[in-house]
Amino acid sequence: EARQSPGNFAIFTGNLDRDCNRNLSLVAELHHAIADEQLRLYCQPKVDIATGIPCGAEALVRWAHPEHGLIGPDRFIKMAEKAGLITPLTNWVLGEAFRQVYTWQSDGIAVPLAINLSTRDLLDSRLVDRIRGLFLTWGVDAGNVQFEITESALLEDPRGSLETLKRLRDLGVHLAIDDFGTGFSSLTYLQRLPTDSIKIDQSFVGRMLEHEGSDAIVRSTIDLGHDLGLSVIAEGVEDQATWTRLAALKCDVAQGYFISQPLPAEEFASWHLPEDMF
Ligand code: C2E
Ligand code: CA
Ligand code: CA
Ligand code: CA
Repeated sequence: EARQSPGNFAIFTGNLDRDCNRNLSLVAELHHAIADEQLRLYCQPKVDIATGIPCGAEALVRWAHPEHGLIGPDRFIKMAEKAGLITPLTNWVLGEAFRQVYTWQSDGIAVPLAINLSTRDLLDSRLVDRIRGLFLTWGVDAGNVQFEITESALLEDPRGSLETLKRLRDLGVHLAIDDFGTGFSSLTYLQRLPTDSIKIDQSFVGRMLEHEGSDAIVRSTIDLGHDLGLSVIAEGVEDQATWTRLAALKCDVAQGYFISQPLPAEEFASWHLPEDMF
């Protein structure tokens, strides 16, 4: 039986490695960080490949830690899910994203902003009502808000997440299946998903020029997406040659360092495509 004495706690932490200890203190700090305005929303542009015109952005969260500097989401999203902190974190991201879309819309800029949802979010029965509330509060167009859901998050609870996706779709927002190709979802399941686009995982896009297998996966995902009437986005586009190959394959949208790094939201409005891009 585990007694909550300081002695027991000391023995417990004594068995943990340094990494885990660091994470434990990060969890405690993350709790405060959310309330304490330490999170930042960065935006990465997406560009229509056929026309070269920017067509949206993805919202990516960062943690501006007072001592460790800017911490990427790969280091705290999973931790937040495990520690039961994903709901406040997602709520912060949602609020900030809607505020941003409202600001752009007021300035006459229409940038559909895509928000990432995690596995836990999809199983939260109050999520859709909260999003509906944000639409009422900010009065932004449904066309300017999108959601990205990873293929693996959907597979945790295919039935439950399908239900959430349908309810989100009913709000009029655009949905994308993220990290496509990494989750082994069946084609039957994909066909039933109420989605508008698929995002090919950057692990395939990043290697498609050197690795025939990756090129084959990118090629067949584009064709599959188009056959199902979906728009296809390639993420992790890092160079001109990859862009050119994706254009030849008729991929619809590109996102990646070749176009732009994720930018602080304030810098995004003045961002424009690099002149020498094409
Ligand atoms: P993701 O949704 O697959 O996002 C794409 C990741 O690739 C981002 O990493 C982005 O900065 C990075 N990236 C963009 N262009 C390139 C490129 O050309 N090359 C390479 N190598 N990487 C590129 P980031 O911002 O570190 O985010 C990591 C993951 O954290 C995201 O993967 C997403 O799953 C999650 N995440 C980020 N923000 C949120 C959020 O607000 N909520 C939730 N639930 N998850 C989030
Ligand atoms: Ca994403
Ligand atoms: Ca992705
Ligand atoms: Ca990813």
